[in-house]
Amino acid sequence: MAKKKIEKVYEKLSNEYEIFAENDNEWEKNGLNSTDFKSLVSVMLSTMTHTKRVIRACNALYDKATTPKEILDLSDDELTELIKPVAHYNRKTKHLKEMCQQLIDNHNGEVPRTEKELLELQGVGRKCTDIMMNFNFGGDTIAVDTHVHRVLNRLGIVETKSNEDTADEINRLTPKKYKKHAHEWLIQHGMNICISRKPKCEECIVSSLCDYYEKEFYTKQ
Ligand code: SF4
Repeated sequence: MAKKKIEKVYEKLSNEYEIFAENDNEWEKNGLNSTDFKSLVSVMLSTMTHTKRVIRACNALYDKATTPKEILDLSDDELTELIKPVAHYNRKTKHLKEMCQQLIDNHNGEVPRTEKELLELQGVGRKCTDIMMNFNFGGDTIAVDTHVHRVLNRLGIVETKSNEDTADEINRLTPKKYKKHAHEWLIQHGMNICISRKPKCEECIVSSLCDYYEKEFYTKQ
């Protein structure tokens, strides 16, 4: 049932949203993912932070440092000041330094290309790993952040409490042909239409498939 439903959702969303490589993606335009290392750092810094602030922090940082060694050469205070636009900048300063040291000690300064090795890096969690595997290393794992988690739960495709559980479920349910771009369609829908506080259900192209919509607009009448 959920498998059939998710296929219909992907069909509709894929007609509505461009994939990042085709649209005016802010990350691409600002070179936030022009190397594997910059991609990794940008994704780490993006946790709990609006894209505009991530771009500000990354632009400031990459003006000064674009390699693990260059980041380690910055003092903690300098690094914190550069990434101050992002949430939890003190913790991220610490994690970023530790992660850069791990890259130098264990991977010759390169970003490792396996899920297991990425997850061993300080400050790199499941979402970050799945994004790297999909966008940088040719995999097709669907990364789940708060937007993707919210959309899938409202639709009733999953019933989960954490992003990690949603990632397990949606990667299991999604047919291979949709996996590569599923994250891109779902995140755009979550950021533009199925927004956190008040979803724009009247504008939503998947409302006919949505449990939340049915409950809010029919069951209550
Ligand atoms: S109908 Fe509303 S709750 Fe359901 S996916 Fe669309 S915007 Fe989100």
